[in-house]
Amino acid sequence: MPSMLVGLRDISHIEDAEQQRRDFVANVSHELRTPLTIIKGFAETLVEDHATLPVETRARFLDKIVNNAQRLHVLVEDLLELSRLESQSEQIQSSVQSLQQLLEEMLEPYRLRLNSEEQVLKLEFDERIGEFVFDPFRIQQVFDNLIENGFRYAPDFTLLAVSVRYDDANDLIQCTVADDGPGIPAKDAPHVFERFYRVDSSRTGHIGLGIGLTLVKSIIEKHQGTIQLKNSDIGTTFIITLPFININLK
Ligand code: ADP
Repeated sequence: MPSMLVGLRDISHIEDAEQQRRDFVANVSHELRTPLTIIKGFAETLVEDHATLPVETRARFLDKIVNNAQRLHVLVEDLLELSRLESQSEQIQSSVQSLQQLLEEMLEPYRLRLNSEEQVLKLEFDERIGEFVFDPFRIQQVFDNLIENGFRYAPDFTLLAVSVRYDDANDLIQCTVADDGPGIPAKDAPHVFERFYRVDSSRTGHIGLGIGLTLVKSIIEKHQGTIQLKNSDIGTTFIITLPFININLK
């Protein structure tokens, strides 16, 4: 009976949304609980035993409290950022900017984190590209997320390369961020841009909330651009396209 079929489809749709909400609450609670438990435990010990604890131990406990408060802060900021971007009210603030200058400046601090003998962080920039219109704060967030992911999830990379070229045929800017780390398994690849999707990263031990790439995609789409994860045998490569608009629209 057709009416019956429609009814069944509706129910499964609601169940999917319900399951996503449950996963969301479970993931967020789990991520928040670990640092909170650590902060609570050390703070309670400090209150109860402060008279007897050696000064160095107190300093170590306070350090743990500060580090975990910082971790909580990052998690909450990421969540707020995602909800702001996904709400229609938050728009990008574009103006004419130099992507080359932005990238050269933002890569500097990452170079300090390289294992100098074995790792290279390379920028290749097509000199034909002059200034064009984009939101510098948001585009920096995009590259920060992708490069930070390289350091987190491919910590033994030998090359992390950012390249930007002008695609004449389509009048687009094409940016790639590529590492030669362990890559993303084919079964996970179609899902990495989904909210809260995480790949089992037991190899690197780093666990995030699974929202970095969701943020990245949302920013790129707000610029009328595209992002893809390229299938390859070696490492991970993200390809971004941005429209090349070189007049100030404001
Ligand atoms: P998070 O916000 O938790 O860091 P992301 O949305 O940025 O998560 O990434 C989703 C998943 O994709 C991560 O759990 C990670 O395992 C995987 N991933 C992202 N970038 C890389 C990379 N450069 N190399 C290997 N795995 C990656």
